[in-house]
Amino acid sequence: MRVVDLLARGRTFSFEFFPPKTAEAQAQLTTTIAELAPLHPDFFSVTYGAQGGERTRTRDVVVALAHNGSIPPVAHLTCVGHTEAEIDMLLGEYKAAGVKNILALGGDQPADPTQVGPSDFRFAQDLVEYVQANSDICIGVAAHPEVHPRSPSRESDRQHLAEKLRLADFAMTQFFFDVDHYQRLVDELSALGVHKPVLPGVMPVTNKSQLVRMAQMSGSEIPQWLNDRLAPFESPNDIRQAGVEIATQLCTELLAAGAPGLHIYTLNRSTAAREIALNLGLGQA
Ligand SMILES: Cc1cc2nc3c(=O)[nH]c(=O)nc-3n(C[C@H](O)[C@H](O)[C@H](O)COP(=O)(O)OP(=O)(O)OC[C@H]3O[C@@H](n4cnc5c(N)ncnc54)[C@H](O)[C@@H]3O)c2cc1C
Repeated sequence: MRVVDLLARGRTFSFEFFPPKTAEAQAQLTTTIAELAPLHPDFFSVTYGAQGGERTRTRDVVVALAHNGSIPPVAHLTCVGHTEAEIDMLLGEYKAAGVKNILALGGDQPADPTQVGPSDFRFAQDLVEYVQANSDICIGVAAHPEVHPRSPSRESDRQHLAEKLRLADFAMTQFFFDVDHYQRLVDELSALGVHKPVLPGVMPVTNKSQLVRMAQMSGSEIPQWLNDRLAPFESPNDIRQAGVEIATQLCTELLAAGAPGLHIYTLNRSTAAREIALNLGLGQA
């Protein structure tokens, strides 16, 4: 099913995975999916890396989810390292497998640029336009509530986001910890005349050093109140419990602010994601 149609029916809740690199990681992901599926999420999304074997791993997870048929997948797809012919091939494979959704992204720059091939697309908007002209797949785009780290200004970031979201069906955000970031993003898009659904991405903190690394990569702020909340905890279980409480509170505030759904980053683990869903009374249909 298309995400845009799911959103038209009401609020969605969904989970994000990344493609596993090893047989052990694949087994972990299989378990996670099996534990989250009974919550009846509206869709699963699968991240994408343009480098080496990552692209086929994403495709394999997405196609397997589509064949399974119970929960629709959203396949992330990047400008980085893709020619039009490669995009055509992937879209063909997705169409054949019954995949109805992609998330069209600029893509993270690989640490070693020689590891990816040339790209026919510079910005996510170029990819949105190309995919739209060549398929009828539902298209989401990325939004950065705290502004994309490479943007020269907030205004230019919002203008470019508004341009691509005018074409696309929905947006999904980078993670953030204060509801005000989301509210401001939606208000700024609205002021630019764009009212498409913006799904907030929520990442439960389960590991302090991972949080610091991911925040640096994504340009998300770690607010002082979050550091203070996590400071007393050292054991993985205590950190996860605090992370779940914080994420549940944020989700509650997001729903009160009118968010059209919640997209939870799982990092391929089910426990925190499942606890948040259950805290919110989701997934008991
Ligand atoms: C929900 C979500 C999921 C993600 N999943 C993945 C993933 O699976 N794989 C991965 O590699 N990365 C992923 N990312 C990271 C993303 O690819 C990076 O943040 C990337 O640097 C930007 O992607 P974008 O789609 O926002 O790019 P773009 O929309 O191309 O924007 C990138 C920058 O260029 C600017 N810009 C856009 N259009 C123009 C224009 N016409 N002229 C001048 N400047 C312009 C923007 O303001 C921004 O600063 C994800 C991010 C999010 C929020």
